[in-house]
Amino acid sequence: MIPYGRQSIDEADIASVIEVLHSEWLTQGPGIASFEEAMASYCHAKHAVAVCNATAALHIACLALGVGKGDLVWTSPNTFVASANCVRYCDADVDFVDIDSKTLNMSVKALTIKLEKAKQQGRLPKVVIPVHFSGLSCEMEAIFALSKQYGFRIIEDASHAVGAEYNGYPVGSCKYSDITVFSFHPVKIITTGEGGMALTNQAHLADQMVRLRSHGIAQKPEHMVSAPQGAWEYQQIELGHNYRMTNLQAALGVSQLKKLPEFIAKRRAIAKRYHDLLAELPVVRPVTSNESSWHLYAVRFPAEKRKAIFDAFRKADIWVQVHYIPVHTQPYYASFGFTWGDFPEAERYYNEAISLPLFFDLTIEEQDYIIDFIRNFLS
Ligand SMILES: *Cc1c(COP(=O)(O)O)cnc(C)c1O
Repeated sequence: MIPYGRQSIDEADIASVIEVLHSEWLTQGPGIASFEEAMASYCHAKHAVAVCNATAALHIACLALGVGKGDLVWTSPNTFVASANCVRYCDADVDFVDIDSKTLNMSVKALTIKLEKAKQQGRLPKVVIPVHFSGLSCEMEAIFALSKQYGFRIIEDASHAVGAEYNGYPVGSCKYSDITVFSFHPVKIITTGEGGMALTNQAHLADQMVRLRSHGIAQKPEHMVSAPQGAWEYQQIELGHNYRMTNLQAALGVSQLKKLPEFIAKRRAIAKRYHDLLAELPVVRPVTSNESSWHLYAVRFPAEKRKAIFDAFRKADIWVQVHYIPVHTQPYYASFGFTWGDFPEAERYYNEAISLPLFFDLTIEEQDYIIDFIRNFLS
């Protein structure tokens, strides 16, 4: 069976986790700060806050930006449900911006039109969450310019884009956003089992996210509301969560991060090979990019053939996936009044999409087998 994505764990990764098991610190240990510092440095960001998964990171990012009841947050319909659910955890309202048919990311044109309309109606979003689909960055410079014009904040959902670049800068630098969120789920670029991180250049946002990941408790005297009675004292100053990453996970993260450049180079090579080998076939290939982290290689097949080819892939033990069922069509979001037809580009893409296997250990033989399968099926 060839999965669409899979972790790559070597002996150094295993040794680094075993070392933690022999140590004093299973959770909340020094490895967390090491992982945060290593990732912040890799991304040229000032602060990094490690948490138990990217969904939690998105949640505390929204909270840190003050998202609450009555607020409006926009994201892409072509994403995993977590990009929208984080808004609902804050009791705020979600809306979507349709995608660009080529990049499959939030369309800057659609965003501009929707912002102008929202301004006239007096209901602008507080936050916009662009999602770097497949590891290709959104047009952040343009979205950042719009955020200044219309007064919203930006959280980049970069779950797919660990190790990607944009305009020569690492994704995560937060050059064009307030906060960037990464996922370390095993199907993503590097893994900690479960894990996520929020990066920012704003110290007050980092402080607040640190507090929110651990019950809303202030540890440092300067963050407390009154002078502590003694060294034992901690003060819960707001309602937070238990979203901490463990030291075991952080050790794995530090070890995996060392291999990130190698992981990305291999993914780019696999994507390039798909691009070349699929050139002759009647499918639509994703846009080429030297800056993408290539979390996904999403191909568009003729819509009327998509179901049959998906089933045939699976029968041939090629475990392809579809990314994504447009979030607004999920029954939960339909209950807010969203319906098929609301975001036609995301829906059109969904009806044709299949993500081909792409992971570090995918072999040339496996890739040839996948290409041969597609050629035979379509001929
Ligand atoms: C995987 C993913 C998430 C959630 O990540 P977890 O670490 O599993 O919580 C959020 N957004 C996108 C776009 C994802 O692909």
